[in-house]
Amino acid sequence: MIEKRDFYINGQWVSPAVPNDFEVIDPSTEEPCAIVSLGGEADTNAAVAAAKAALPGWMATPVEDRIALVEKLAEIYTTRGEDIAQAMSAEMGAPIDMARTQQIGAGSYHLKNFVRAARAFEFDRPLNDRSPNDRLIFEAVGVAALITPWNWPMNQITLKVGAAAVAGCTMVLKPSEQSPLNAMIFAEMMDEAGFPAGVFNLVNGDGVGVGSTLSGHPDVDMVSFTGSTRAGTAISKNAADTLKKVHLELGGKGANVVFADADEKAVKRGVLHMMNNTGQSCNAPSRMLVQREIYDQAVETAAATASMVTVGNAHDEGRHIGPVVNEVQFNKIQALIQVGIDEGARVVAGGTGRPDGVNQGFFVKPTVFADVNNDMTIAREEIFGPVLTMIPFDTEEDAVEIANDTPYGLTNYVQTQDGARANRMARVLRSGMVEMNGQARSAGSPFGGMKQSGNGREGGIFGIEDFLEVKAVGGWAAE
Ligand code: NAD
Repeated sequence: MIEKRDFYINGQWVSPAVPNDFEVIDPSTEEPCAIVSLGGEADTNAAVAAAKAALPGWMATPVEDRIALVEKLAEIYTTRGEDIAQAMSAEMGAPIDMARTQQIGAGSYHLKNFVRAARAFEFDRPLNDRSPNDRLIFEAVGVAALITPWNWPMNQITLKVGAAAVAGCTMVLKPSEQSPLNAMIFAEMMDEAGFPAGVFNLVNGDGVGVGSTLSGHPDVDMVSFTGSTRAGTAISKNAADTLKKVHLELGGKGANVVFADADEKAVKRGVLHMMNNTGQSCNAPSRMLVQREIYDQAVETAAATASMVTVGNAHDEGRHIGPVVNEVQFNKIQALIQVGIDEGARVVAGGTGRPDGVNQGFFVKPTVFADVNNDMTIAREEIFGPVLTMIPFDTEEDAVEIANDTPYGLTNYVQTQDGARANRMARVLRSGMVEMNGQARSAGSPFGGMKQSGNGREGGIFGIEDFLEVKAVGGWAAE
């Protein structure tokens, strides 16, 4: 059993002020795989104090030196990939091959993109050609609390730490208590890279404890949060008294609009995208909207595709999907599948209960619901499991109306071979991102949402800017 109770504060691993053991459960086995500590107010205060003390020195460090440290971190990251993959697989159930490729790959991708974006960014520049005495200075927001979830843990940590570091912010990271092990390896890498003491600190803990101490702390200037809309609201309220900057990446209920002229792989691709990471992605295309002419065929294809998705132990190699993260999520997903049935949707693949022959572990059947309407609970709530809902539509206008009829606005997807229509759709869909015909967005493209999906942007230069204040100077002397 792994025992890692310490926190990383001011460049040292330190014991918690008050012991508070917490068992990390392996969702494939339902057995504990590690013991960590949940921190309290004293640990959080110590980490914030270290970050505050380190801030002036880190802000004054030339940006090239900050970038060089992130570049060093990216190099070290490649040497620890297997350790992190094993940790994620045990604590949040990512199948090991998927952890080694997609989960780990996301981290190095973001770190490298931040290095490239920061090198191209002018942190200190004239306002414009006509105003030589006006200067813009982009400087760190200050001490940043980084609160991250368990679903794409290294993706989230690197998106926040990489951007905050090049921007000159100092940090306190509170990873999800469901997935603390990968974050602790990340802290070891920050130490090895040689970030000055206090620039990066890590305190494990839960939302009501360390999380709310951070969001209400007078010495924290900014909270960058990824997770549920519920926690995002709680953080925003708690941060209001100190008027912190609050950056939120929240849930989603993405529409995947499949027109009758979509390419022949569109439905299959949509199902597999939904099932990836066992459906635990905020940008999952969880509502498949299908044009009536091809709806019956699409339902058949989706059911067949979902039935081919195998479910298995996260420690086994292979292309299966793993368990969901924990018992709470398992029960929530089971309840929502039952609600779908009760509200009259038609199960065409999967359903309630564990997959056949499985009686341990938080495994969920890859499930597809047909004949869903957009008012049903399963079309409105973020299920965060391998559950796809299929909704028929008639016209382009109907599709837009259904797609936008959600409190969320993170990612929508469009499948059509008519380029003009695809572009029209991209303009009217109310979401921070739109992806068409299976084409992913490129490096440096901003990730983030509208409406209740949040308010910030992560990745590339947009992600760095979220950790910067712009200072406007008049009367700048020629240098
Ligand atoms: P959560 O939002 O409760 O947890 C995410 C992080 O926020 C964790 O580090 C947690 O400790 C922290 N947190 C929780 N409450 C907090 C508070 N009041 N103040 C400060 N920090 C707080 O998510 P969860 O409970 O792990 O998952 C529940 C649901 O959240 C899921 O079903 C899913 O819908 C959603 N979710 C979304 C994302 C995403 O990327 N958008 C990620 C994880 C979970």
